[in-house]
Amino acid sequence: MKLLRFGPSGQEKPGLLDDNGVIRDLSAHVTDLAGEHLDRHALESLAKLDAASLPEVPADTRIGACVSGVGKFICIGLNYSDHAAETGSQVPPEPVIFNKWTSAICGPDDEVIIPRDSEKTDWEVELGVVIGKAGRYIDEADAMQHVAGFCVVNDVSEREFQLERSGTWDKGKGCDTFGPLGPWLVTPDEVPDPHQLDMWLEVDGKRYQDGNTRTMVYQIPFLISYLSRFMSLQPGDVISTGTPPGVGMGQQPPVYLKPGQRMRLGIEGLGEQHQTVVADQQG
Ligand code: ZN
Repeated sequence: MKLLRFGPSGQEKPGLLDDNGVIRDLSAHVTDLAGEHLDRHALESLAKLDAASLPEVPADTRIGACVSGVGKFICIGLNYSDHAAETGSQVPPEPVIFNKWTSAICGPDDEVIIPRDSEKTDWEVELGVVIGKAGRYIDEADAMQHVAGFCVVNDVSEREFQLERSGTWDKGKGCDTFGPLGPWLVTPDEVPDPHQLDMWLEVDGKRYQDGNTRTMVYQIPFLISYLSRFMSLQPGDVISTGTPPGVGMGQQPPVYLKPGQRMRLGIEGLGEQHQTVVADQQG
C-alpha cells in the first residue's frame, strides 16, 4: 500500500495511491498518518478497504509529507562506504547519529529554501524508515516488526553550517524545508528487500547520485536495534539511513545548489520527489 497525505500545508488529509495511480481520500477512515494509526494492524485494516469506493482526489493536488506527528527525525551519517570516502571520512566503527529538527519537514515537491548566508546547500537522497510500533532495547530479529513503512528522504544539508561552525552537524541539517518526506509511505509488504533498491538524484537533469541501498554499511534491523539502546522509538519517528556517493560536497570542485535549480530524486518502488530551489525571501 502506498499511503500519502494531500492538501495545503498544515491541512493535509490522509490518502492512498490506488493501483491506477489515482489518489483516494482516506479521511473517512483514518484521521491522519500519525501515531497509533501507523500500527501494523491499523494499516492492515486500511489495506482491506475497496480503494475504488474511496473519493478520488484531483491529480494536481499538493502532496504533503507522508507521515505526520513526527517526534524524532533521526539520521545516520556516513552509512555508505563510498560516500564516506568522498567526504574524506572513514566508515565509523559504530553508526553516527544526528538529528534533523522536525520543523524541517515538508512535502516531497515543495520548494527547498536556501537559508540566509548559505553558500553550501547540498543534497542527499536517502531511504527513510518510519516507525509504526514503539519499543526500546529492540532485538535485531524483531526490528522489522516496528516498521510502518519506507519513504524517500532528501537530507538537504548546509555544509558550512554543518562542518565549519563548531559543534555537531545539526546546525546544517535542520533548516526549514531541509526534510522533504515522501511522496508515499510504502508499507513493507511492497518492499520485499529494502537493501536492494536503486536510488538516484539529479540536479537540472544531471545525475549526481546513482546508488543502491545494498551498499549500506549498517542495515535497517541493526540500526533500529542500535538506536533503541539510546532512546525509545515511537510511532511516527523517521530514521533516514544515509546517502550513497555523489553529493555536491564530493564533486571536484564542489558543487552547491543555487536558486532556480531543480532537484529530482527517487528510490525504486518508493516514488520521486521534485524540488525547486529558492532563495530565502527573509534573507
Ligand atoms: Zn544524510
